[in-house]
Amino acid sequence: MGARGRGSRPPRLNVYEVFASVQGEGPLVGEPQSFIRFSGCNLSCHYCDEPASRSARPEAPVLDPDGEELGTVDSPARPDRLVEAVVSLEEEVGAFRTVSLTGGEPLVQPLSALQRLIRELRERGFRVLLETNASLPDRAERVEVDIVSADVKLPSHGPRMEGFPDRCLEFLERVRERCELVYAKLVLYSEECFEIAPDVLERLDGLELDTIVLQPATDGEKEPGLGELWGLARGVKSEVRILPQVHKLAGFIRK
Ligand code: SF4
Repeated sequence: MGARGRGSRPPRLNVYEVFASVQGEGPLVGEPQSFIRFSGCNLSCHYCDEPASRSARPEAPVLDPDGEELGTVDSPARPDRLVEAVVSLEEEVGAFRTVSLTGGEPLVQPLSALQRLIRELRERGFRVLLETNASLPDRAERVEVDIVSADVKLPSHGPRMEGFPDRCLEFLERVRERCELVYAKLVLYSEECFEIAPDVLERLDGLELDTIVLQPATDGEKEPGLGELWGLARGVKSEVRILPQVHKLAGFIRK
């Protein structure tokens, strides 16, 4: 008998909320999507805009684009229950074919349950986007998604940032040829970020990703001018976008 024992429950996913909105970051900005936000994260960034989602809750709301509750999902949730929630959200509000897995950090969820969720969403015809802090390179090849949106964490982004940005670069190296679209977001939060950014951008450029996004942090310690951001983009051969968090500028309550 296996270590889990006969009759034990298969792994489930800690979900915080399921909602429909538009993508607010990166090259797909403005695309109507649905989002599964998981609870739990292995990091604690100074600029985290979803600190509540680091903690679990027993029931996750399913929300339309105005934030109106259409139903709930018990958490931890079975993967098929989450697929049902996305399908019924799609029937209710329509307009999306991409499902973003976000958090928190999706890759801290039980991998077998996450793999099953991704497989079933793709079988239903959805395109799956993984939004990750890219801190777990050993898990990079364990999930088969269509799109990866990877943050590139820097030492000054928070406590417990040993090994960054190297871990994120290794993660990107592992996924870059496995997916339809792979992009990196370099969040510029403080003066230290700007000091290290030229070196990090040179290394990201060498990975030949689809897009590199320079993202000034909302409410960061430093408010850079466009000239300073432009200066960082000079000399980068990859596609570059200079993009703040557009959903916040627009006043949309979520992504
Ligand atoms: S990785 Fe993302 S969710 Fe986790 S603390 Fe940092 S910003 Fe928040």
